[in-house]
Amino acid sequence: MGESFAERLAGVEARLAAACARAGRARDEVRLLTVTKTQGPEAVADALAAGLTLFGENRVQEARPKWLDLRERAAALGKTIELHLIGPLQSNKAREAVETFDVIQTIDREKIAAALAEAMAKTGRKPKFFVQVNTGGEPQKAGVSPLEADAFIALCRQRYALEIAGLMCIPPLGEHASPHFALLRVIAERNAIAGLSMGMSADWPLAVQLGATHVRVGSAIFGTREAKA
Ligand SMILES: *Cc1c(COP(=O)(O)O)cnc(C)c1O
Repeated sequence: MGESFAERLAGVEARLAAACARAGRARDEVRLLTVTKTQGPEAVADALAAGLTLFGENRVQEARPKWLDLRERAAALGKTIELHLIGPLQSNKAREAVETFDVIQTIDREKIAAALAEAMAKTGRKPKFFVQVNTGGEPQKAGVSPLEADAFIALCRQRYALEIAGLMCIPPLGEHASPHFALLRVIAERNAIAGLSMGMSADWPLAVQLGATHVRVGSAIFGTREAKA
């Protein structure tokens, strides 16, 4: 028998509070971004009922129909939710992304920045953005290279007038995450960027130690995705 949703969420909240305390940070400096990818509307309804309002999805196609409904449910509960895209974005989905998400955490190339700026002009929507940085320099992984990050951030801000509110990274599997989190923070500081989306699954307490403002947690709250299938 597994734990209930409420027990898992309470466990995550307790670990988050403890991680903040250890890091000498106030609990409200770190936002828990609940990752709802692959979760059905009933599981997300539990999360809404528990008072969670900040969510992440990794696919535009999955999130759009799902959250149309869920936003209404949240509104009926008197809550405003904030939905973040944390997965890769293709330029032909820019308009849907701008219509669906409040924050898009994964911009990493000019083509996407241009497509998003155009979609914003067409729809009148103004989401915020995080730039994804490929801190490990992995060839197969999304994200701008650390060496090109400053120039890309400037381009997004100046040419496309995108509000860059944060940086996001996914450290390489099997490597210690600390140097990656530290690098992301350095890039954020020198570009006057406040948001740091770093830390997922096992490494988020460490990310809190190193300055994360958003930790992305899915299976620790909902149970393993495999078990749900
Ligand atoms: C799925 C995902 C997470 C959450 O992973 P869990 O193992 O479910 O906690 C965090 N960040 C990104 C980018 C993801 O795709």
